[in-house]
Amino acid sequence: MKIALVGYGRMGHAVEAQARDREHEIVARLGRGELGGRARDLAEHLSDADVAIDFTVGELTPRVIEAAGLAGTDLVVGTTGFGDDAHEAMESAGGIGIVHGPNFSIGVHVFFRIAGQAARLIDGVGGYDTHVNEAHHRHKRDHPSGTAWRLADLLVERLGDKTQWRSGPPAEQPDPATLYVTSVRAGEIPGSHTVGFDGVHDRIEVTHEARGRDGFASGALRAAEWIHGRDGVFTFTEVIDRILDLDTDDADSGEERDE
Ligand code: NAD
Repeated sequence: MKIALVGYGRMGHAVEAQARDREHEIVARLGRGELGGRARDLAEHLSDADVAIDFTVGELTPRVIEAAGLAGTDLVVGTTGFGDDAHEAMESAGGIGIVHGPNFSIGVHVFFRIAGQAARLIDGVGGYDTHVNEAHHRHKRDHPSGTAWRLADLLVERLGDKTQWRSGPPAEQPDPATLYVTSVRAGEIPGSHTVGFDGVHDRIEVTHEARGRDGFASGALRAAEWIHGRDGVFTFTEVIDRILDLDTDDADSGEERDE
């Protein structure tokens, strides 16, 4: 497959290394210089590719989607921190396939299911206070991570004692009905997410810890291989369910949400 790398930073390089191993050809590497122009200019850089893989910054996402539509190039959006304008752009980019997701690690999707099941058990037993902590390298701009966002959504859905979640520590006295999501940005941590269930007599933790960026890059390539030749907008969860042939009705896979 011919691949255009939209964003040639840490993730762009990781995707390139994995793409070589999977015998794909990289036909464009787009860094800040090429990404500054209009969608029409960007489309010219994408037109030779079968699939474009975007790892940039959220404010660029609508333009990247528009460019992929103009070029007729399928698109994998790995960038996080984009807004509603990107979702609107996805809906109006006809004739191409798009996969998006805040976390392309297959292990994280297994982790979501384990965390969802754990929340159901905790909800039945009662007496535990649930929270989420995520840690990433100091270069990550958005917080909480898209993965923590999704994790919090799926936990609040399953925990009767939590009616909402909030990013950051509580200002004064913690509200027992709020699930707090805290973020650490330090050094070069590739990405770690913990769900803690804190009880009077004990504490239960479920953690996913990425060892590096290769897991995300490999998932992005699996998504690229899957989307090529398909039409429509898919979350990575939907793609993973189909790739792994899992039951797509499994409630614990949750609804995907990008910021
Ligand atoms: P990075 O900073 O190493 O690379 C970003 C790229 O975007 C670079 O090529 C940079 O030149 C370009 N860029 C940045 N700001 C720009 C601007 N204003 N205009 C034009 N170009 C600009 O970042 P990274 O670690 O590769 O991560 C990129 C994105 O991918 C982030 O949003 C990150 O959160 C996300 N991410 C997602 C996953 C996933 O599994 N979905 C995994 C890791 C990272």
